[in-house]
This record gives sequence, structure tokens and C-alpha cells, in this order.
Amino acid sequence: MKVMKFGGTSVGKPERIHHISSLVTSQKEPTIVVLSALSGTTNALVEIIYNIAKGDRISAKQNIDKLEEHYHDFIKGLVKEPAFIQKANAIISEHFEFLNIILKISFSEALSKDILAQGELLSTKLFSTYLEEQSIDHILLPALEFMTIDYNDEPQIGSIKVKLTQLLGQYPNKKLFVTQGYICRNARGEVDNLKRGGSDYSASLIAAAINASVCEIWTDIDGMHNNDPRIVKKTRPVEQLSFDEAAELAYFGAKILHPASIWPAQQYNIQVKLLNTMQPEAKGTAIVEEAGSVGVKAVAAKDNIIAIRVKSSRMLLAYGFLRKVFEVFEKYRTSIDMVTTSEVAVSLTIDNATHLKEIQKELEPFGALEIDENQVIISVVGNEISQTANIVKKLFESIQNIPVRMVSYGGSPHNISLLVPAAYKTQILQQLNKGMFNL
Ligand code: ADP
Ligand code: ASP
Ligand code: MG
Repeated sequence: MKVMKFGGTSVGKPERIHHISSLVTSQKEPTIVVLSALSGTTNALVEIIYNIAKGDRISAKQNIDKLEEHYHDFIKGLVKEPAFIQKANAIISEHFEFLNIILKISFSEALSKDILAQGELLSTKLFSTYLEEQSIDHILLPALEFMTIDYNDEPQIGSIKVKLTQLLGQYPNKKLFVTQGYICRNARGEVDNLKRGGSDYSASLIAAAINASVCEIWTDIDGMHNNDPRIVKKTRPVEQLSFDEAAELAYFGAKILHPASIWPAQQYNIQVKLLNTMQPEAKGTAIVEEAGSVGVKAVAAKDNIIAIRVKSSRMLLAYGFLRKVFEVFEKYRTSIDMVTTSEVAVSLTIDNATHLKEIQKELEPFGALEIDENQVIISVVGNEISQTANIVKKLFESIQNIPVRMVSYGGSPHNISLLVPAAYKTQILQQLNKGMFNL
């Protein structure tokens, strides 16, 4: 059995849905298709939540109506027969009625998760309606019945496996299954999600849970590129990445993959393929156990980083200082990305400013604090790069003119990370493209 995940742009137009339905039906083995919401939908739902949270119900209503219109237009190109047009219209009405009801009740965090879930519920039901019109036999599997997260918001493959296996066991002769990416149920039984871009994570979790032959992530580009194509003009796809390399790139900002999407596949050694829906014949990127080659493969940038330097008074520099500093971050469930130390100070970075004020207050007794917001982590990723002297030389030569605030080297053999002010992001990515890749 295999998993094929299609992202927002891959389902964003009726003709793309027609196209992916022929892709999924031409598979030799049974397939679970994981779908994102149509492109733009989750952003629109975020905007609606923002309107409601602010108490601006007029704008919320306008945005709901605009989105509903988009869906009614969409199905005009999706299905043809009156019975299926009627069915698709009924699906849209059901979900937008729900959104309109929400407008009337008092707002809560849990309600916002219900709103966010509408995108994937709509895309999968509409896809299923199209498959039905084409007489393509399939089963719509409700992700909310098997995709769960625990009290720490962590998915547990073990329990997902039990529920999904049970569900699939009800359809022993079926070959095609369709389910929602992104959405899940939390430990309180409420509708929740795997965070923005989470459909990749859903696909990898499902692939791990069913021990899939492959987890294919179909998107709008032909694989992981050596640099961010949104910023740098000349980039090229990377043919093969190890799980470790791909996980570093995803975590450090390569938007093509959700930051946590690699570990489930890695844990169960399931190869992940990044493929282009618009160009299915392109090779894409294979993510497997082995790196395939030594050397730099790609660079990525992670935005909105805050650097914190704690300069200790001498007494506190004794053993235990770092533990005390780290405990503050643990207390506020704020993860640290980069760390560098000197004899008298420690610098570290976080990307979550939710508890910055409290963290700052608790760190103050340990020494002088310096906080720099608006930083970006640039990660240079490849196999054994930190052991190859020439790579480090080339790296620093190509960015000589850029003020580097921190360097993390040797933490992993596949990654060298640099912290620079966000204003230098484009420049550093461009210079690295020339210096490291000759592009
Ligand atoms: P989907 O909707 O299919 O999940 P995303 O927009 O989440 O697609 O991810 C694909 C996009 O990621 C690409 O269109 C590209 O602009 C962006 N991207 C950023 N960094 C990279 C990279 N290193 N390689 C490929 N794509 C990247
Ligand atoms: N629809 C969700 C988002 O836009 C999940 C995804 O596309 O992966 O974040
Ligand atoms: Mg995505």
C-alpha cells in the first residue's frame, strides 16, 4: 500500500482535481490519498478567525460569503451531471452553514480549530464526489477517526496505527482511500490540527502507521531544491537526500515539507518522494536512509528568530548555569534552535515569542541580557559537511561581507547553521547559491 499526498495548489483548480484523479487511479497498488485544502482556503479561514476574534463579525461574514462563492464557482468546473452538481452544492452549503452558525456563538480557541478543519473536509468530500461521478470506486476515510495527538500535542504512531488498521480492515477489497491531511483530534477529543503545512505530516504518519511502500508528497515543484526558489532565481532539484538531511532542511525552513514531517517515515524507514503534480514525469527528490553523496546539498532559511544572550556574573558561571538557563525555556515550553557558548556567556535562539516576556524576567537574575529580534537562521545542509574542511572555507569566503551573529557547527554532521539579521536573508541566500553551488 502507498500514500500519495496532494498539497493546496495540486487541488486548487477543478482541472487539477481531474488530473490527480487519473494519477491516483493509475497506481498498481492500493493507495491512500491525503488531501490538503484548496489553495488559499486555510489562509482565508485564518482571516475569518482573526475577524471573529476581534469581534468584527461584519468582515467575518463578508469573508465567509466570498469563500463560499469561490467554492460554488469551483464546482462548476469540477462536476457535470446534475445529480453530482446538486451533491457538491449540498456539501458546500453544509460547511458554510456551519461557519455561519459559528458567527453567532461566542468565540473560543477550540472553535477556531473547528473553523480551520473545514478546508480539508471540503476538499476531500468534493474530490470524492468527482470520483463518484467518474464511477471510481473508493472510500472516504475520516481522519478525525484515526489521526490523534496526545496531551503534548504529539501524534503517537502506535495509536494511529491501531485505529487506522481497524478502519481499513472494514474494507478488505478496496483499492483507493481518500482522507484529510492536517486535521486531527486532540487528547480532549476536540477537533485540532497538525499546524500549518501539516498535511505532509499527516501523510508521513499514515505511511508509518500502515508501513507503506512509499510516501509520495505531490506539490507544485519538482522536489527539494538546493535553495529557496521563492528568493533565489537559479535553483535546481536535489535528487537524493537522507532522512537526516531532509529533516534538517524541513526544520530549518524549506517550506516544501512541514518541519516535523520526516521523523515518522524515518522511524519506519519508509522512503519519501517529493514529486511535481504539474510535471509528474520529473524525477523529483527521493528521501531515503542513505545520503547518496557527500557534500553540500541545499540551504534553507528559518524566519522570525529571536536571539538571546545571557552574560553571566562570574559566580553563576559555575556548573549548573546552563541547566538553570535551559530550565526557564523548558518551563515555558519554548524550544531552542541554536546554542553557542563562551566562557562568560551563552547565546541561544528561539522562534516562538509567546512567552518571551516571562522568559526574559526569569533570566534576568542570571546576568545581563541582550535580545535581538528579527534574525534568520541560515542552514547549510549536506552529508558530512562539517567534517570537510574545504566546505567551511568556501562557506565563509562566500559570505565575507555579511554580519554573522552566531555559528553552530558540529552539532550535527549534516548541518552548519548561521544566524544573521533578517535584512541580510536574500543577500546571503544569493551569495551562498553562487559560492556553494556555482549557480
Ligand atoms: P503544498 O501546498 O503542495 O504543500 P507548499 O507551498 O507547502 O506546497 O510547498 C511547496 C513550495 O515550497 C514551493 O512552491 C516552493 O516555493 C517552496 N519552497 C521553499 N523552499 C524550497 C526548496 N528548498 N525546495 C523546493 N521548494 C521550496
Ligand atoms: N491546509 C493546511 C495549510 O494550509 C495544511 C496543508 O496544506 O498542509 O496549512
Ligand atoms: Mg505544504
